[in-house]
Amino acid sequence: MRTLQRLGSLTAVVMLGAVLVVVAGQRQPPTFTPEQEARLQIREVKDGLYVIPGFDGNMSGGNVAVRVTDAGVIIVDDKYLYSYDFIAAQVRSVTDQPIRYVLNTHHHFDHAGSNADFMQNAEVIAHKNARANIVRNDQTGAPRVVFSDETAVFLGGVEVQARHVGRGHTNGDAVIYFPDLGAVHTGDLFIWGQRLDGSTLAPFWDFGNGGSAAEWPATLDKLLALDFDTVIPGHGPILTKDEVRTFRRNLQTVLDRVQGQIEAGATRDNIASRIDTNDLGWPLAPVRLQDVYDELTAAR
Ligand SMILES: [Zn+2]
Repeated sequence: MRTLQRLGSLTAVVMLGAVLVVVAGQRQPPTFTPEQEARLQIREVKDGLYVIPGFDGNMSGGNVAVRVTDAGVIIVDDKYLYSYDFIAAQVRSVTDQPIRYVLNTHHHFDHAGSNADFMQNAEVIAHKNARANIVRNDQTGAPRVVFSDETAVFLGGVEVQARHVGRGHTNGDAVIYFPDLGAVHTGDLFIWGQRLDGSTLAPFWDFGNGGSAAEWPATLDKLLALDFDTVIPGHGPILTKDEVRTFRRNLQTVLDRVQGQIEAGATRDNIASRIDTNDLGWPLAPVRLQDVYDELTAAR
């Protein structure tokens, strides 16, 4: 009896601890080194366009684009649930204008996490599938305004477009286009380089939220048809159109290799052991390659 009681209270303490850790994980920003902190400060990309850098989905979140006009600020994505104060302070360091609009590239918690805070004073806009994913995944901050193919915000003489160019990372991805600057924010349809901890980023087709590896290259072709020279990826440094072309080529290479192995008799269980992506610089987990196998075999 005594032992059981003690076991019971021990279990309660352990469970309480787990809940606190989970809540802390969502509510508290990680501790950064001074070098990491310096890398995360807002910087100018082009005249009137800034980025608050983000290099991963677990520490620094997604890149936040900041378009400043003389009638207010439009931002793209808003990192984590706890990121409102940080983003607001970063924006205040370059302009006195209020944040009027937030455009979401997709629903993931490292890109749309602080929607609810921004919606107190700004309008958040996302693709209709991104909103549906926010609702289905029980995230806060479901946008009041959605679009299907494309929409635009006109503010202070500046136009910012949000375009859904197809499935890829999810079924609700939007690329945000700054036509007067020749710049885009791609969301996670295009990511590049190393996480803050030094590990390498690779594309993630989120099948649970309608993503598609097979359709992703054609989606990038529509992005590449836009006129731009400067790219803010979902995560990573500021890049050019050439890196998007490289990323698209590598994606197609993965698809071609999986297709080739399927035709050579590979099974779901051995597909990952038959595919090497080291030459592409992408560490793809076995389950990612099994996802591609599933999608390509289902489509036959
Ligand atoms: Zn994402």
